[in-house]
Amino acid sequence: MTAQAGYQQGELDGMPRPLFRVSPSRLLAWLDCPRRYRMQYLDRPRPAVRTQRGHTSVGLAVHNALRDWWDLPDGRRTPEAGAELVRTSWIDVGFRDDAQSARWRTMAQQQVVDYLRGLDPAVQPRGIERTVSIRTAALAVQGRIDRLDERDGQLVVVDYKTSRSAPTDDEARTSLPLALYAAAAWKMFRRTCVRVELHHVPSGTVASHVHTGESLRRKLAEAESIARDARAAEDDYAQLGVDSTRFPTSVGPLCAWCDFRAHCPAGQAAGPEKPDWAALEG
Ligand code: SF4
Repeated sequence: MTAQAGYQQGELDGMPRPLFRVSPSRLLAWLDCPRRYRMQYLDRPRPAVRTQRGHTSVGLAVHNALRDWWDLPDGRRTPEAGAELVRTSWIDVGFRDDAQSARWRTMAQQQVVDYLRGLDPAVQPRGIERTVSIRTAALAVQGRIDRLDERDGQLVVVDYKTSRSAPTDDEARTSLPLALYAAAAWKMFRRTCVRVELHHVPSGTVASHVHTGESLRRKLAEAESIARDARAAEDDYAQLGVDSTRFPTSVGPLCAWCDFRAHCPAGQAAGPEKPDWAALEG
């Protein structure tokens, strides 16, 4: 059975299929590696995931601090308060040792202070970690936006980045999650939302792109295409379980970081695993 045929089976039976419910990250997981997708979303009991890596701990602490900062009363929204929030939300997991954790905590605090210096604490965003959703004929996409700004009568999607290298405008342009968030926000709030931004907290760089209604429609079509393949594979899995051949391994550089490589001989054979703190060095 082809992917297309599997997708249409319910329609041929005259039974409208329920919408396929996905998040943008789930769609990207399918593109990255179908085997990992299966282990992450379908296999039950779910294969054990490795412990959290250091850069994930840093990213979570920064995201949480930038979220909670907006809950402070207006007068207490100072850059220094952001540094304190990094301290209180610090997750001491995945670092080489206490010294590395402490060094990164100090760096993250300074990065947040510098980033918050560029914000006006009196201008409350339209949403913080706002869940948005949008439906198409076959798909229900739901995700969470780090920050939704309102500027000059339009909505702007803001996504925080804490990676080592700064994102580019091209990454903002091609990002499927950002486009889906924009389309969903536009639909939910009935307000134009075409601008998407990646805010790189370590450097203060803002990578951006301004979509059009047409480019957002193209991204929705792209999401539907990915979902069509994933859903056909899930249908096969419902019949065959782990004997389904629709979840091949996708061996590559990501295997060194994969949370499920302990359950994947092909990924292990591809090379050594990166240490928990590898992304914090260099
Ligand atoms: S180790 Fe590599 S091939 Fe295996 S599941 Fe992870 S990403 Fe896929």
